[in-house]
Amino acid sequence: MLIWLNGKIIDEKDFYISPLSPTLHYGTGVFEGIRAYEQRKNVAGIFRLKEHAKRLVYSSKILVGKKVLEEKEIEKAVIETLKANKVTEAYIRPLFFLSGGQIGLENIEKSKPSLLVAVVNYPPFLDKKPIKVKISSYRKIPSICQPQNAKLSANYVNSILATREAKEAGYDEALLLNIHGKISEGAGENIFLVKDEIIYTPPVSEDLLEGITRNSVIKIADYLGIKVIEKPLSIADLFNADELFFTGTAAEIVPIGNVNGFVISEKIGKITKKIMETFDKIKRGKIKDFSHWITEVEISH
Ligand code: PMP
Repeated sequence: MLIWLNGKIIDEKDFYISPLSPTLHYGTGVFEGIRAYEQRKNVAGIFRLKEHAKRLVYSSKILVGKKVLEEKEIEKAVIETLKANKVTEAYIRPLFFLSGGQIGLENIEKSKPSLLVAVVNYPPFLDKKPIKVKISSYRKIPSICQPQNAKLSANYVNSILATREAKEAGYDEALLLNIHGKISEGAGENIFLVKDEIIYTPPVSEDLLEGITRNSVIKIADYLGIKVIEKPLSIADLFNADELFFTGTAAEIVPIGNVNGFVISEKIGKITKKIMETFDKIKRGKIKDFSHWITEVEISH
């Protein structure tokens, strides 16, 4: 694999990071997950590149305390990485990290802030059949302790603990409550419920990441004439739902059939299905109203 590192394309084997890198020791990095979908032969389409670049800039600002990245630089880096690897379908992983060996907790900027972009072949990891979800015994880290609306590497220890617990108990994915016992989000996904043909999702104040797929689903629902309400949700609201689904770049849109052994629905719900089908068309550039979500990149072999 070729990676983009601080403006240059290099082989991943030539990548070096100090063994004392603070990112390695303390998780002081921020990252993105972006997907590219093949639009036509030799044409990749990057899904909502601008929004991902904007969120990476925001996350890095939260980490460092000032603006250190430019949206345009990130967009260019992502495009160059796809071209260098000659792929039209990929999961793209930009990471802002500290590659130098400054062991103290202070002065992040002395630790060589760096940006890399890698691509991997990572098909949507969750099956599109209704999945089984476990409400985790780990609560979501409150944003007042560590901002959850920034994609901080360190936030993911919380997600990884919850995922391990869920998988060991035989579930497909974990769902985390916030410290107040309200629904926050999945380990790597936002959650939506459908009740009486209205879609509900928790607001960002519930210690969650404002997902770009979440935003896409809200816009798709509007396009389809389905009402969306953002409000705090309880476990009882989940058990009362007609349909439940997760959203995220890696997972895309995944129906949830079962929570803690409680059956929500055996089959994919009607509204979930409509949203999934519309999303699948949009990601391939097949709906004109959403073509501005796709950045096309010619891949030459
Ligand atoms: N929440 C968390 C904790 C995530 O890691 C992700 C994946 N980035 C999401 C939600 C979904 O965000 P997006 O739709 O932007 O991928």
